[in-house]
This record gives sequence, structure tokens and C-alpha cells, in this order.
Amino acid sequence: MFDDLSSKLQSTFKSLSGQSKITDLNIAEAVREIRRALLDADVNYEVAREFTKKVKDQALEQDVLTSVSPGQLFTKIVYDELTQVLGGQKEEIRFASTPPSVILIAGLQGSGKTTFTGKLAKYLKSKGRNPVLAAADVYRPAAIEQLKTLAEQIKVPVYSIEEKNAVRTAKEALQFARSNAHDVLIIDTAGRLHVDEKMMAEVSEIKKAVQPNEILFVVDSMTGQDAVNTAREFDKTIDFDGVVLTKLDGDTRGGAALSIRNVVEKPIKFISMGEKMDSLTPFYPDRMAQRILGMGDVISLVEKAQQEYDEKEAKQLQQRITSDKFDLEDFQKQIHQIKKMGSLKDLAGMIPGVSQKLKDTEIEDNALDPIEAIISSMTPDERRNPQLLNASRKRRIAAGSGTSVRAVNDLLKQFAQMKKMMKTMTKMSKMGRAMQGLK
Ligand code: GDP
Repeated sequence: MFDDLSSKLQSTFKSLSGQSKITDLNIAEAVREIRRALLDADVNYEVAREFTKKVKDQALEQDVLTSVSPGQLFTKIVYDELTQVLGGQKEEIRFASTPPSVILIAGLQGSGKTTFTGKLAKYLKSKGRNPVLAAADVYRPAAIEQLKTLAEQIKVPVYSIEEKNAVRTAKEALQFARSNAHDVLIIDTAGRLHVDEKMMAEVSEIKKAVQPNEILFVVDSMTGQDAVNTAREFDKTIDFDGVVLTKLDGDTRGGAALSIRNVVEKPIKFISMGEKMDSLTPFYPDRMAQRILGMGDVISLVEKAQQEYDEKEAKQLQQRITSDKFDLEDFQKQIHQIKKMGSLKDLAGMIPGVSQKLKDTEIEDNALDPIEAIISSMTPDERRNPQLLNASRKRRIAAGSGTSVRAVNDLLKQFAQMKKMMKTMTKMSKMGRAMQGLK
């Protein structure tokens, strides 16, 4: 699903991730690539334009967060916008306060109405409801048979009559639901290959006769912008409540999914990803956006970093590192920051590609505790100047932190290595800047 769009967006972020900060130039380039990716995915032109404008505005507004790379920041901005364009919140179907609730299913022929009717019934049954179906697609005998076959599989009754009268079928089915204690009636209506007045008139009449609580418009996502235009036509006549996007298991580019909400201003409520009765999924805009971007949970990671990271403190820290003043007291602050961000395993699991590997490794959440305890047992002087730590001081610290002299030595060794590495990195980046003629 949306493979092409996904890989184009991801390669945009990748090309940004090599850069150290967001600039007007790389924003402009990234935004251009995003717009091209959206248009190639058959997203409505206006929607794509609006989308990229918002992404650009937000990127320009951002302060340079030293804790987040431009690639990550852009991923977050695009993720937020994708979620919005897909509808923001998950939207539920509406049920009547006094049953039975009536759900009317409308759409073109071949869009997947009958299949969806069956899936919805099965889904509602699994939620403890007791649905009945009405076969109001009265013109094609095969349609009624198809519905009956599906209904048999999922063990739900179907109401149908001999007469080819969709309105009467719907009305009688409602009576049937009432007198047989069914709390939901799902009406499968007839579609045509194209929007025509007779079909619209019939759906409108059914609507008037049974006053549905919910009208769902079913549309084949493979038809791209045609799907959006059909939705607009249907909405003008029947003012539906939600969209069902079908055939998302196919090779669909994503245009319908990303445009329909903004063009028609109605939420997507379900997606269908297969012909079998069990592949119905309520639609979650945020999860779909995550899928499109192929992310682990980078989003939460960036959000956490944004919440917890004090920019001023970060800059001070950077300065201490570059001037070789980073000491055990700074190290202690760092550990504290990391701990504030939550469970170590959760944090590591949010990094894409890591979560799978982590399943086999155990990271204890208290892994940092002994280190913290050792540093806390030192005097401020010792933290600033570890050379003071002779054998007797080390014994005191080991006892005070409930560890061993060996653990104290290990920590000091690691810290010395870390400082050495920081020094080398600082030197290298200074050299790099000098070579580029920037400083
Ligand atoms: P209707 O004319 O609107 O009632 O459409 P149908 O329910 O008969 O579906 C038309 C065709 O699309 C059938 O062959 C279905 O099996 C198929 N179909 C429906 N939904 C999906 C879906 O989500 N994925 C795939 N791959 N096929 C589907």
C-alpha cells in the first residue's frame, strides 16, 4: 500500500538526515520533493499544494533543536500533516440511542459494497451486536445471492423480498429487525457503473424511508481521483456520514485516501484490505500516516526529546564538551535527562530498526542506577576533578554507593574514554569546518 509514496518521502528525509541543520535551502528542496511525491501518488492538486505549504511554514517556524536532526524533525512535521489530511482523529460510526440502528451502504457497482456489508456485520458481531442485513440491491439477482452466501459464512440473517423494490425491502427489513430484536440493520443498496440520477433518487428514497443513523459511502481506492469525484457527487445528493476505502491491499497509490477528507469534508471510517470477511479495519489516521512514513515510533521519540530537552542547557553542555570541560557532574545530569525520558527499553524500541533486535536483548531499566549511585557518592570536588580519587576515596565511594572499588574504577575508565572520544570528535569537527572555509 502506497509503496511508491512511502519510498519517495523516506528518501527525502534520508537526504536531509546527512545535514546538520534546517536551512531555507534544504526546506525548499525537501518541500519540492514532497509535493512531487504527492502529485505522483495522484493526490488532488489543491490538497497537495495546501499540504506542502503547511509543511514549509512549520519547518520555517522551528527553532534549531540540537537534540533532533533535520531529517527527524521533517519526519515529525510531515507525519503531523499526513495525520491531519487523513482526518486527524479516528471517527466512529453512530448508533441509535434506541435500537435498531440503521446503517445504509452506498457506492458504485464493483466498489466493494456487498463485501463491506458482510465485513461490517462480522465486525459488529464481534463487538457483541446482533446485526441483520437487507438485500436492497434488487436489480442484480447475483447481488442478493452474493450477500446471502457471505451472510451464511458469518452466520448473520439476510432480509430480502421477491419484488424488485429497494425501498420496500429496506422498510420491511427495518420492521423485521425490530420484531426480531436485531440491534443493527445494514442495508446493501444497488450501484451503477457511473453516477446516474435514477440510482441517486433510489438511495435518497431509501434514506427518507428508513432514516439511517449512519450512511457509509464505499469507494474503490484504486480509482484515485475518480473516487474523490464520485464521493463528491454522492455527498451532494445523500449527504453521507463516512467513507469506506476498499482495495487498499492492492497496488493503490494513495491519492484517494489523502484527498477525500479535504475535498469532501467527510471522514474515512473504515478501510478494507482484502476479499475475505476478516480484513476490515477501523481507520486510524495516525497509524496510516506512520505506515506511509515507514516509521518505528520516531514521532514519540521526537516528542519526548522536545518535551524533556532544555535548549539552553543543551547549548551549555555542548560548550563544555567543545572546551574539554565535561566532567562527572555533567555526566550525572545527562543520566538524569535520559532517565526522565522514560524506560530505557521503550526509548531504544522507538528507534526504527532497533525494536526488532531488542527483543533478544534485555535492557534493565535500572541499568544506569549503579553509575548514578557512584557519582552521587562523590564530593562535588571529586566530580569536577576525578584525579583526586585515590584508593581510600574509591573505597569510601564504593561503600557509599553499595558497589565495589572495581565498579568505581570501571566507571572512571569509561568516563576517561568518553572524554577522549569527545575531544577527538570536537577536533575533527573543528578541522572539518576549517577545511570548508566556514571558520
Ligand atoms: P459491489 O458491487 O459494490 O457490491 O462490490 P462487491 O462487494 O461485489 O466487490 C467487487 C469485487 O471487489 C469483488 O470481486 C470483491 O471480492 C472485490 N473486493 C471487495 N473489497 C475488496 C478489498 O478490500 N480488496 C480486494 N482485493 N478486493 C475486494
